[in-house]
Amino acid sequence: MPGVNTRLLPLLILLCLLLSVFGSAGASGHASAPLLQFDADLALAHAHHLSEVIGDRPAGSEGERRAAGWLAGQFATLGYEVRIQPFLFSRSGRPLIGMNVIATRSGHPDYGVLYVGAHYDTVERIPGFPYGGPGANDNASGVAVLLELARLYASAPLTPTLTWVAFSGEEDGLVGSRFFVGNLSIQERMQAQAMLNFDCVGIGDALHRYYHRDQDRAFVEALPVASDHTGRLLWGSSDHVAFAEANIPAVLLNMHPSEGACGPHYHQPTDVFVTLERTAIERAGRTGAQTIAFLMETSSVRTFYRQYFPFVAHGGAN
Ligand SMILES: [Zn+2]
Repeated sequence: MPGVNTRLLPLLILLCLLLSVFGSAGASGHASAPLLQFDADLALAHAHHLSEVIGDRPAGSEGERRAAGWLAGQFATLGYEVRIQPFLFSRSGRPLIGMNVIATRSGHPDYGVLYVGAHYDTVERIPGFPYGGPGANDNASGVAVLLELARLYASAPLTPTLTWVAFSGEEDGLVGSRFFVGNLSIQERMQAQAMLNFDCVGIGDALHRYYHRDQDRAFVEALPVASDHTGRLLWGSSDHVAFAEANIPAVLLNMHPSEGACGPHYHQPTDVFVTLERTAIERAGRTGAQTIAFLMETSSVRTFYRQYFPFVAHGGAN
């Protein structure tokens, strides 16, 4: 070994060992943020398709089925594993079938799942009344942000598995999200890292963060994103509630105009694409990307047996 002082050999070996230990820790450690930037124009194009090309999407309707098919195609094109989850519910005594659209990309199996959701259904119109419509802000805007974030994370390194859910039946009393959470196994509930929900993010300058349970307040306040308000949602509800009820930390991101959480066209025929504000969608999207990156970086091991039955893990199982 010409040129190397043999007295330095133990030092070199120690250096190599340290490098290999920290090198491998870095490789298997937490994922970093995606390389791509949130593109508000792509998100707006999604909102346009849902609210203008497809239009009204009440759960159980032809519009909902068309939207579900389109959403499944969007997620599949991004490379996600996609499934449609049908559920039974009733509206005014009518039995109907709604559909959640679920897209998944696997991360490290020890880190469980991070859920990101937005509802794509709309309220049903009432003939003769200015009620119901194409739901551009409520909630094509949230689904548009969901799809654009799914594009950013389609190839980014993951720590927990990422599961995106476009919920239906939200407007019928959270029936889609409650069905989804109700069908998680006990292991899946325990392995859930958190749930991030987008609802009405297309109008307004103020970003509001809402939690449903008081015990989620610290979780929400710890998210390193600029917001104008953090609190409980006192009027109204959304799909994060179904997760909070199952003890999964959950947060709702909402762009809040002065007229209330869903703006001046809430549940009206005037909730149309032209009323959406690019700045609102962009802020919600960037905040969503920061939130997902933070939750990826701070995710903890959620291996079921290691967490709840450590004596089993010592026997070699996980
Ligand atoms: Zn909504």
